[in-house]
Amino acid sequence: MLPEKLRTMEPYEPLSGTFDVRLDANESFIPPDDSILTALSKLQLNRYPDPYSRELCTAFAAYYGIDPERVTAGNGSDELIGIILSSFLGEGDKALCFSHDFSMYKFYLKLYEKQIVIYNKPHDLTVDIDEVLRIAEANNVRLIIFSNPCNPTSLGIKREEIIRLIESTKAIVVLDEAYMDFFNQSLIKLDFSNLIILRTMSKALGLAGARLGFAVAGCEYTRALQAVKSPYNVNILSQAAGTAALSNKALIDENIRRIISSRDMLYSRMCAMKSDEIVTVFPTCTNFVFVRMRDAQSVFTVLLERGISVRVLGDCLRITAGNERENDVLISALEDILSIRSENT
Ligand SMILES: *Cc1c(COP(=O)(O)O)cnc(C)c1O
Repeated sequence: MLPEKLRTMEPYEPLSGTFDVRLDANESFIPPDDSILTALSKLQLNRYPDPYSRELCTAFAAYYGIDPERVTAGNGSDELIGIILSSFLGEGDKALCFSHDFSMYKFYLKLYEKQIVIYNKPHDLTVDIDEVLRIAEANNVRLIIFSNPCNPTSLGIKREEIIRLIESTKAIVVLDEAYMDFFNQSLIKLDFSNLIILRTMSKALGLAGARLGFAVAGCEYTRALQAVKSPYNVNILSQAAGTAALSNKALIDENIRRIISSRDMLYSRMCAMKSDEIVTVFPTCTNFVFVRMRDAQSVFTVLLERGISVRVLGDCLRITAGNERENDVLISALEDILSIRSENT
């Protein structure tokens, strides 16, 4: 007989089916450069990969201007979240998550049978650091995990506020900066003994299919991460693809600019849509736009029928910035569904 927790769990199912316009997973719309594929042709696939992904971590550290000794690579940051939440919390230890935030934090905490404390964000979805500190203290939590900028709210918290949080708590702070390439408030160059920063190549860096994530931390936590991870967690193809991608700084910077400009276009066109159906378009520090709607569920369903996939979360839609055509198709469909004309047409 399976344990109770497994009987109620369902396999993760991203949207299945084929859609002409996919704006549901926050991926980059820019296909990989040919140099990345060239790098894969000379690999010794008969050999195990480097267990510590040293070349990859060095390329990552060079791109961000940090010490490679502080970097641990993972099979997506998802793997690192799982490793941290399973092994950095002892039996009975509590972890603090925010709501809404990235769903995998709660997923792993439940799977590993950890105690979960929730900070519920107010209606405007901002984060009150004093309230977070109060809840952390009152519940004596061992670890605090959250994303900044936040998926799904697209909102960002200023660096000073995060530093105040880290300096005011004894808890381990796991700061998921999956979207920080679109916001300029990273803590990646700072060293705090109770901080782990997570980064990924899945969003701004355009390699979601290669599954590459990184943990950046001080020597104590880095040693612990390297001790508990599975030995060959990042395969040889992904290590090479990531190393090649990170070595082309000019191209990464250019791609990030293109994504931000697409995001800004999508955001301003959403703001320009005047409809009672659109309640709030949240300011965005990410590569997606988060919109509170009167009836998000039915708009989501009609978009899907038209071959356009976005994410629906309660009364909100999360729409990834796509290429020009994808954004155009989405905006026209929305205008059509909501029977409105945007101000700039
Ligand atoms: C997409 C995302 C991740 C997952 O990244 P992978 O490296 O693809 O596993 C982690 N955190 C947040 C907040 C994300 O949105």
